[in-house]
Amino acid sequence: MAQDIIIDIRNVSKHFDGKVILEDINLQIRKGEFVTFLGPSGCGKTTLLKIIGGFKEPDQGSIYLNGKDLTGVPPYERPLNTVFQRYALFPHLDVYENIAFGLKLKNVPDKEIDKRVRKMLKLVSLTDYEQRDVDSLSGGQQQRVAIARALANSPQVLLLDEPLSALDRKMRLDMQIELKEMHDKLGITFIYVTHDQEEALTLSDRIIVINEGRIQQTGTPADIYNEPCNSFVANFIGDSNILNGTMIRDRKVNFIGHDFDCIDEGFGENTPVDVVVRPEDIYIMNRNDSCQFNGVVRSCTFKGVHYEMFVDTEEGYEMQIQDYNAFEPGTEVGMLIKPQDIQVMKKDCVCNSFDAEVLDENHVTFLGGRFECKIPREFKAGDTVCASVAFDKVGLMDYADEGELVGRVRFPLYKGDHYHLEIVTAGEALIYADTQEVYDNRDLVAISIAPKDIKISAKK
Ligand code: ATP
Repeated sequence: MAQDIIIDIRNVSKHFDGKVILEDINLQIRKGEFVTFLGPSGCGKTTLLKIIGGFKEPDQGSIYLNGKDLTGVPPYERPLNTVFQRYALFPHLDVYENIAFGLKLKNVPDKEIDKRVRKMLKLVSLTDYEQRDVDSLSGGQQQRVAIARALANSPQVLLLDEPLSALDRKMRLDMQIELKEMHDKLGITFIYVTHDQEEALTLSDRIIVINEGRIQQTGTPADIYNEPCNSFVANFIGDSNILNGTMIRDRKVNFIGHDFDCIDEGFGENTPVDVVVRPEDIYIMNRNDSCQFNGVVRSCTFKGVHYEMFVDTEEGYEMQIQDYNAFEPGTEVGMLIKPQDIQVMKKDCVCNSFDAEVLDENHVTFLGGRFECKIPREFKAGDTVCASVAFDKVGLMDYADEGELVGRVRFPLYKGDHYHLEIVTAGEALIYADTQEVYDNRDLVAISIAPKDIKISAKK
């Protein structure tokens, strides 16, 4: 193992109530690194932090600290300290006593305690507050006391679980800068949990993007922002235009009805791909011969530094654009995207395909539902087959008829001219649907598929 690895997470999995919360997480964290676990609510990031802290045990896998397996080592014996979302300060103790608490428990001599507490008070800029009741402090000041208390024990690693989420925006931004300065000054390892992508981009040396219990991407803030590895990361980190495309050949991609030069290679020919273009990477101008595509501005909003515009292209796509110049709604504009600003990504799949069982010559069952369809003659009742359904052939309704599948919408993704939805069925299966309708995360939908849209083939 490399010398500078302090935390090594090996094959960690965790289930709750039969549901996968973390799936085979592998990650190494270097000494002195500021690493952030970033992901939407419920993705498993806090569970991973708690496993590192020893507050939860994994079902499988282990955490190693400086090469030593921590399995079975209780939290208080791990050289780690945690700062929680809620500060968990002792209300009956003043600021000084709160910071000194852990040191007293460890029987550190009074003189040493005094030295460390004063150092911590200085570090968190609370030198004049030592006698104050913690209840009389603002949220930001209370969180500083919690950080000072965690750092007073000189941990090798500081675990921070959404420590700034209870603060207002201004205080949060100030505390972000202070945390970063503290990290640089102390040189200890920080592992930080947040669902706020801006916070992750500001603070981290490295971001670990997690979704549905799996690591999606690991990289520096610039890597993650500029080179998202899939549409989830692109959508979650910053604003982006995410579009269906076709890689025509190396360095040539088609999307929004046009061919574009790009720098990507190795996707093969005529391969369906996802294309990501950041709003600030689309050049918008009065129409001229250098423009690659044209449109009409639908809205223009001043955002403090730049203007945010939504433009309807002639081919019927909506593009989000950020520019220092404003183009008023109704203006006919031209647009340009440079090859290096087009990010091409492999698609996970191009249509739904399910393991299905033939019921009779007109019916199959899959995902726990019964569907009418035409069964090719080579298959008979009881055969296991593959049922394929194109994304745009999955019908969605608000209410289910008896026997129809029901699911919850997850991660709706706007793709310029339609929404691409992931729907999780009651049996935890995934079905993808393309629709013009607007659905929110967690909306309940009934799924119907017309018989002609279910294609039956031999199981691969
Ligand atoms: P948030 O930002 O909302 O805290 P998170 O990404 O930190 O989200 P976790 O707290 O790790 O998510 O929870 C992941 C999933 O595990 C959630 O669906 C949660 O309901 C579930 N979960 C967590 N702890 C338990 C538990 N003790 N028993 C059952 N389910 C749990």
